[in-house]
Formats: sequence, C-alpha cells, structure tokens
Amino acid sequence: MRQDWQERFAETPGVLKSARRQRTVVPVLDLEIGGGEFVTMAGPCSVETEFQLLATAEHVRRAGARILRGGAFKPRSSPYSFQGLGLEGLKMLAHARDESGLAIVTEVMSERDVPMVAEYADILQIGTRSMENYSLLEAAARSGRPVLLKRGMMATIAELLRSAEFILNQGNPNVILCERGIRTFETATRNTFDAGAIVLLKQISHLPVIADPSHAAGYSDLVPSLARVAVAAGADGLLVEVHPNPEKAWSDGGQSLDFAGFDEMMEDLEPWLALRELECTRHARRDSRRETVDVRAMETVR
Ligand code: PEP
Ligand code: MN
Repeated sequence: MRQDWQERFAETPGVLKSARRQRTVVPVLDLEIGGGEFVTMAGPCSVETEFQLLATAEHVRRAGARILRGGAFKPRSSPYSFQGLGLEGLKMLAHARDESGLAIVTEVMSERDVPMVAEYADILQIGTRSMENYSLLEAAARSGRPVLLKRGMMATIAELLRSAEFILNQGNPNVILCERGIRTFETATRNTFDAGAIVLLKQISHLPVIADPSHAAGYSDLVPSLARVAVAAGADGLLVEVHPNPEKAWSDGGQSLDFAGFDEMMEDLEPWLALRELECTRHARRDSRRETVDVRAMETVR
C-alpha cells in the first residue's frame, strides 16, 4: 500500500490490509462474502405484504441472488411516509428465508431494536443515516451478526473506515462495506455513485465491499449500468431493490427493478462476471509468482 494512504488512514489500522490480513471473508449461512464469489442481495426497499416478499424472494433466487433484502424499520425523511412494519416485517422476512433458503439482510435503526432484529436477520444493515450512530454500531457489533455498513451520504472514506473500526473493536470481524452514492452538487441522479471509493477501499482495506446502485441512481433505468460499473470497479457484490410492481411500491418504487428488469440485469452481468473471474485467477497467479520471486531474492541476498 502507498505510504501516503498508510498515513492518511493511520487512525484505522484494524480495517487496513496488513501482511497478516489481506482479506476478510464474511460467512453467512452457507455462503461467503468477499471470498471470490460475487454475491447479489436483492429485494424490496420495504417489506410490505407476505405475497410481495415471497414472490420477490422466489424470483430473485431463481435469477441468481443469494441474499434477500427488505426493510422492516425504514428511515424515512418524512414522518408522514410509511415507516415499516417493524416486528411483523421481521417475521415475514424469517418466513421468506424458510421458504426460499435465502439469507436475510435488514436494517436496524435503533440500539434498542438490535436484539430483536438480530434474532430474525442473518446480516444487520446500518443505513446511510446511521453510519455515525456509534452506540448503534457497537450494539450491532455485539450482537455477533455480520454488519453491512452503508457509507453515510456525506461521509468521507476515512469516516466510513472509522465507523467500521468501531465495529471491529467490539470483537466482531464480520463487516461488509457498502458504497450507496454520496451527495454532491449533482441532482439529476439521487446520489453520485462513487466508483472510485470502491476501487480505493478494495486496495486499502481487507473488508469486503459491495455496491448499492439503486440508492445511488434513484432511477431504475440507471441501475443495471451502475451494477456493471460496480463489477468492473472490483466490488464483491450488490445490494439491489426489486419489487413485483414498482409503481405501487410503498417506498423507493422509482429506483426498484421489476422482475423482468432484474432478470435482464443479471443476464447482462454474466460476461462481466466471467471477466472478473478471469481477472481473479490472473491476480492470484501473479501474487504467487511475486512471492516466489521475493523468496529467490531473499536467498540471493543471503
Ligand atoms: C435502504 O437500503 O432501503 C436504505 C434506506 O438505504 P440507505 O440507508 O442507503 O438510504
Ligand atoms: Mn430504499
């Protein structure tokens, strides 16, 4: 790693790559995040009804998703918007896991709710608005569940890493970083997708990094292309909003893919994922070649 990055991110040694720690693989049920396989997490913004959730779970599973997303506690920017079904939504998520076999990721917004959400979810999501809620981060970490940490919409990369370090310091190594777009002067898209952050995070941190093209774009038409950018940037997976009838969604309908749109996105990603695999093999070969050269150089010195 470059010396200036070592210095810039020196406050968060726990999340940085080191000779001892090059990569963290987060186990979730029968799968691994950050272990080489590209993992797609998909589902509605909000859990609405049993039918909506089960139909979506079944559909995204068939199309290749490995994890079901869905919010039961929703951080809405208006008190008059739908706030989520709470415990009832968590129960629906657990039922969808039983039916589909998919692992569940769902947001926890308050420290008080951590034990309840951890009882039903396989991964706890910390939303963009909560990235700096340090007591929530610590409580989520102590639950022992993997934590999907979204970048604050106005947070720098260093601030994101500091929040991740709070979680690691509670003895929970299973953190997944998520780039979901940041606020800039641009208003044509909901947020500005920071692909550079993915590239940088993958270079400096051992933690898995995923991308959420839905909240970055704000418009479903842009989501498949941003997903492709995420793959090319080196992301370990995606978090994508999918709804059986986006026009009728109780939240974030405009950025949600319908079933056909999700199928097309997954199909169009295939060649890019094949390229990614090729690149992983090539890098692994290059790394082992470098190690051999290093050992030989040491022997010559001796
Ligand atoms: C969500 O995933 O639905 C969500 C609210 O995301 P964010 O915290 O990134 O806005
Ligand atoms: Mn949403």
